[in-house]
Amino acid sequence: MGFLFIRYLVIIFLISCSLQLRAEYLTLDSHIDIPFDFMINPEHDPGNDTEMQVDFQKMLEGNLDGGFFIVYVGQSELNKNGYQEAKEKAIIKFNAINKMVEKYPKKIVLVKSPEEVYKAKRDKKLFAAIGIENGYVIGEDIELLKYYYDLGARYMTLSHIGHNQISDSSIPKKSLNNDIEMHGGLSSFGKITVKKMNELGMMIDISHVSDKSALQVIKLSHHPVIASHSGARSVANHPRNIPDNIIREIAKKGGVVQVVAFSSYVKVNKKRTESIINLRDSILTMTGDNNFIPEKHMKLIEYKNGMDKIDIEFPLPGIDSFIDHIDHIVDLVGIDYVGISSDFGGGGGIEGWSNASQTFNITNSLLLRGYSKDEVKKIWSENFLRVWKNVSNNVIN
Ligand SMILES: [Zn+2]
Repeated sequence: MGFLFIRYLVIIFLISCSLQLRAEYLTLDSHIDIPFDFMINPEHDPGNDTEMQVDFQKMLEGNLDGGFFIVYVGQSELNKNGYQEAKEKAIIKFNAINKMVEKYPKKIVLVKSPEEVYKAKRDKKLFAAIGIENGYVIGEDIELLKYYYDLGARYMTLSHIGHNQISDSSIPKKSLNNDIEMHGGLSSFGKITVKKMNELGMMIDISHVSDKSALQVIKLSHHPVIASHSGARSVANHPRNIPDNIIREIAKKGGVVQVVAFSSYVKVNKKRTESIINLRDSILTMTGDNNFIPEKHMKLIEYKNGMDKIDIEFPLPGIDSFIDHIDHIVDLVGIDYVGISSDFGGGGGIEGWSNASQTFNITNSLLLRGYSKDEVKKIWSENFLRVWKNVSNNVIN
């Protein structure tokens, strides 16, 4: 009886230590994608028990405090119709994020500043910030930046896959007949965009843009810039990852690289990538669609079976490989310029961090790798929040 009681006390003690340890860290994921039917389809309502990689239950289980929910719109034609459609699609996602915080005010809060992030943590609420992925959504109307800022957008990724009216992309889009370059980096409208984002105090995200463009942005911007979801190219040689010279420039300017848990950027595995491309192509042939739509195609049994086979043949990289990117950036420029992003909902996920409920594995692995608690805090949010604060406080009018 006495032994059982002591064991019970020990278990309670260990659980409370672990909860206390978890609460110490403010965890911010700078890139969480949402589907177009977010908050419309009950399966895509994070208040429910869902199959999405991020929902409230999973966030609470894994101690993910919050992150940037992403207004992503894919690249299409550079003309009036394309811009109009992109704007309409963007507004659907802004509305969906707002609907989420309005439906669950006790659980999650929309944040528009670092102070509001800290307040959410103190109030024991989850937080959602908004980032735009693909400057395509402003078309050639610079005033739309202010409009999106007022809707809550606090960073914008200048391009996605495919060159746009602002910037060359790190990956030209075949279906748009892209050459390697369109502007030689930033377009003249792109330069205006950088200035306007500086004025508004909106963070500029250089993930996805070409190297030339990234260097031009860093030089032109008065504020530090972010790479919201990219790894280190020296660790995994992929165009979506950031080469050392650009990491140095980002750091010099006080910015941050948010290492992403996207398997093919964490570890380049050509055979795995080729198999996934082939699988996606076969799904498109089967459905007759032009573009891969994650929320539709990933649900198909043919896709799931195909991915299961690929996962066995070419396993996903694990957390150790992910932390290798963090180590590299820390070795290169120091502890103050690195952070974390999942790209959940947009193809992200690695072995050990395949959804938000496993977030604490990252914290544990960082501690095991030898990072101190204070360093882990910097990596999880303090670095990113410092940049956000600097950008929003240095508003140039
Ligand atoms: Zn992306």
